[in-house]
Amino acid sequence: MATVERQLVVFDFDWSMADQDTDRWIFEVLAPDIRRKMEDLDNKVQWTDLVAQSLREAHTRGIKREEIEHVLRSIPYHPAMGRAVTKLKAGGRTTFLCLSNANSVFINTILEEKGLETLFEEIITNPAHFEESGLLNLRRRISADGPQHQCKVGCSPNMCKGEELDAFLARHAPAYDRIVYVGDGSNDFCPVLRLRSQDIVLCRTFGGLPKRVARDGDQLKCHIKYWTGAWEIEEVFTTF
Ligand SMILES: [Mg+2]
Ligand SMILES: [Zn+2]
Repeated sequence: MATVERQLVVFDFDWSMADQDTDRWIFEVLAPDIRRKMEDLDNKVQWTDLVAQSLREAHTRGIKREEIEHVLRSIPYHPAMGRAVTKLKAGGRTTFLCLSNANSVFINTILEEKGLETLFEEIITNPAHFEESGLLNLRRRISADGPQHQCKVGCSPNMCKGEELDAFLARHAPAYDRIVYVGDGSNDFCPVLRLRSQDIVLCRTFGGLPKRVARDGDQLKCHIKYWTGAWEIEEVFTTF
């Protein structure tokens, strides 16, 4: 492989950077009955809207901002992941991008807790903020009212991760020597389709992504490397 002077590492967040799913985790800890309701409504209501609605229900019930923040800070997170990204960033050749279907509050709260608030060049996700009342107000990145994305690969309506990656690459020209994508979900397949022969997808062994790769992997140009635990990401990153 040619020398890599300029490298981009793209991270999905849930089950990739963090060892849990933020949207589900907070309700599993704070309101399991709301978590059950989300499971029941999963295929009937768009997921971001469903999380927003569940947050409103939690707020009506009296669940406080501090409780949500506390639960986010205690989410399962592998220390090897923190070490892996910190060391790679210190090497100076790598830019980090986060592409996530979670939201800005969940991601920033966890990154701050881990001392990683300056890791990412950009965090592309659904916008969220706490209102004065303590309600966590969450919206889709692509509003249901405006023009929708054109993706046919199967991205969720709130965001096409492939289009977002293309837009990021256009904003950060010239092209990176190598792109490494860390993901687990079915919606990570669309951006991975854009990777080139010198790029690598680090695909978690569980989740929708390995299933999609098993089915449609012949469409991929990039290398595929599988991982289960963050210690393996740390091991791979030391070779970069
Ligand atoms: Mg994920
Ligand atoms: Zn897409």
